Amino acid sequence: MDNINYPESHKSGFVSIVGKPNVGKSTLLNALLDQKLCIVTPKASTTRHRIYGILNEPAVQIIFTDTPGYIKKTYNLHHAMMHDFSIALEDSEIVLLVVDPDEHFPEQELFEQLLKHKSHIFLVINKIDLYSKQKVEDKIAAVSKILPIAKVFRVSAIQKTGLEEIKNAVIDTLPEGPPYFDKQAISDKPERFFVAEFVREQLFLNLHEELPYSCEVYITTFKPDGNKIFIDAEIHVDKKSHKGMIIGKQGQMIKVIRKAAQAEIEAFLGTPVYLSLYVRITEDWRQSRFRLSQFGYVLPKQL
Ligand code: GDP
Ligand code: MG
Repeated sequence: MDNINYPESHKSGFVSIVGKPNVGKSTLLNALLDQKLCIVTPKASTTRHRIYGILNEPAVQIIFTDTPGYIKKTYNLHHAMMHDFSIALEDSEIVLLVVDPDEHFPEQELFEQLLKHKSHIFLVINKIDLYSKQKVEDKIAAVSKILPIAKVFRVSAIQKTGLEEIKNAVIDTLPEGPPYFDKQAISDKPERFFVAEFVREQLFLNLHEELPYSCEVYITTFKPDGNKIFIDAEIHVDKKSHKGMIIGKQGQMIKVIRKAAQAEIEAFLGTPVYLSLYVRITEDWRQSRFRLSQFGYVLPKQL
């Protein structure tokens, strides 16, 4: 670990990015890091795991966490997602509460959670490229009535405006301390994790309605051989009928998913990749404690 050379005044800390599904949390994290670490799709609740995105500068290490959007719990999967969410809040010095001006209030429950923690709350009004100034200011006024907001930022994560201001304010607020992770690291997750995420992203982009929510991706092989990395990924689905839809007529759909995911993985790893996909039926994986833990979810002890 290359953590010996950092100045005495080094600053470090955890910053969690929270908000309702689809407000642009993952887009914001990718933009702050200038790297595509989190998958982004127009569908709500794409992010299932807590992901650390690490921003390193010679005298600073900011550990951002992208959390799944705050949701109601209907499956054990959701319990695991929300468990991640409250851990992220507990760990963080600063919370970036991301809000879309057009959303009605983020759920009461989310606000109550935020009030319980002592982190500084930075309100980030995202997607300002879509709305009038008045709408943005009204939103700020409404949220400020309920929560003690330390600072307000008006940004467009997609157009990358207003991001420097967030970064500078975070650095000002973080305490002095040594780095928590290697100064070269960009995340705490292994490459395999991101590979599975890129496959999942294509499922969300190409399949309709509820189908992608019933899929999970599991990497069984990740093997460099010559100048290529050979990757086998299993796509687990709930139902037999879903398997047919993912494969598509004469395998057309799975072909599209495979090709697009492979290109994203190659861009991320910076090496040629050969991706193979296998669709498997695993009934009720969203409820099964065994399957959820196999897929990398940490369930709270009591449910
Ligand atoms: P999350 O669920 O909060 O992580 O939201 P995502 O980052 O996945 O984004 C949800 C959708 O909003 C995607 O289609 C993004 O492209 C879009 N989006 C995110 N940020 C912006 C923005 O600043 N402006 C616009 N117009 N769209 C955005
Ligand atoms: Mg997300």
